[in-house]
Amino acid sequence: MDNEEKAAPEEAAEGALGETIEMTEESYDDIKNEAHRLARELGVSLEEAARSVHASRGTSPQAPSRMIGSLKDLSPGTVNISIRARLVTLHDAERNEGGGKYYYGMLGDSTTTVPFSAWTEFDFNVGDALLLQNVNVREWKERTEIVINDRSRTSRTDDLDGLVPSLDDGVPGTIGELVPESRRIDIECRVLEVQRGEVIVKESPKEITRGCIADRTGRMDFTCWGPVDLIRDRCYRIIGGYVKDHRGALRFNFDPGAIIRELPDDRLPPLEDLQRPLPSRIAEVNSRRSFGPVMLRGMVLDVRGGSGLIRRCSDCGRRMAKGQCPVHGRTKGEDGLSLRAIFDDGSGSAIIRAEGPIVEHLLGKRVSEVSEELKESLDPSSVTSELSSRLNGRPWTIIGDPSVDEYGISVSVKEMSEGFDIELLNSDITSLMGVLI
Ligand SMILES: [Zn+2]
Repeated sequence: MDNEEKAAPEEAAEGALGETIEMTEESYDDIKNEAHRLARELGVSLEEAARSVHASRGTSPQAPSRMIGSLKDLSPGTVNISIRARLVTLHDAERNEGGGKYYYGMLGDSTTTVPFSAWTEFDFNVGDALLLQNVNVREWKERTEIVINDRSRTSRTDDLDGLVPSLDDGVPGTIGELVPESRRIDIECRVLEVQRGEVIVKESPKEITRGCIADRTGRMDFTCWGPVDLIRDRCYRIIGGYVKDHRGALRFNFDPGAIIRELPDDRLPPLEDLQRPLPSRIAEVNSRRSFGPVMLRGMVLDVRGGSGLIRRCSDCGRRMAKGQCPVHGRTKGEDGLSLRAIFDDGSGSAIIRAEGPIVEHLLGKRVSEVSEELKESLDPSSVTSELSSRLNGRPWTIIGDPSVDEYGISVSVKEMSEGFDIELLNSDITSLMGVLI
């Protein structure tokens, strides 16, 4: 889980500060107030006023802040440093006992991103390039964190060299380009499905958002590890998160701290187009793993064992072995029909899996009829043979969801029809002719 952003409890933050300042709290506040008064009365800059207050008291102003080149060079326990960074995410929360707000989020540059907390006014926006002066660095929850307090000075800077591009810079990628372990994703997509859910994390419930996004190049399921305001059939640019292989299909994971901006509706193809199965070749499915449903045309080479009449758990629908559900143990179970077959389209082969009504349709009979027949013949392999003679060596068009694992490609079939779609075949031939002429 991408849990990079946790609100920092303030006791810890404030505890980390006291040691670093030579002056006591009172003398500091005293000097600050006097400098403000002087600046106001004399019309001089605050710096000048502070210098004069220090001079009159014989104290030394705070040591100049040391400039650090990049975020990856920060080390916990350093104090009074300056650094440039872009504000990547920003959240606020209430301090304990009505102490007002504090702010937290992520700062980024071209080397890394680092969490921060700000225990002072922090009037900036996500995307701002900031110069942070007189800030401290601590280790918090095993991560390096920048602490901004009321002795720090934060301002916008025009010096953008080495900072991560802002939302308007950079070119978003496509879903088709994503591979397992892709990080810091930047894509434009349309939300095909979205729903709130709950998972149990460390014994407490956590609200998450799940769904499916698509662009012209592919489709991908996503999980956002928190509530997030995405609406079905709207277009967004999402920056942040990472891609993980989830049971052979890629999944986009991000957290509510990701940058999400709504896009005009005409930026991506309409929902109906994105939901349509993509005519594909098995070799393509193997090299690119971000497909939604595909349409494949090829031959069934072999109907495999495990096809035919099976028993399913009546609670969860899982296939039972020797009267046992792998999850529920011994249950009543019910008869079901299943197909496992090798399918080849000339570019590669895949295992296709079909269940229930699709297999009934292929056999031309209901599961209840098959059960009755078997009670008489007592030969379960007869159903497999029937499927083999019906399917093997013939051309089929299938529509289904592909997934890839160490055993290869498998396709969970949603529709299966004999022969090829003539219209598609014609368009293939036309494009071939175009190449030949
Ligand atoms: Zn079960």
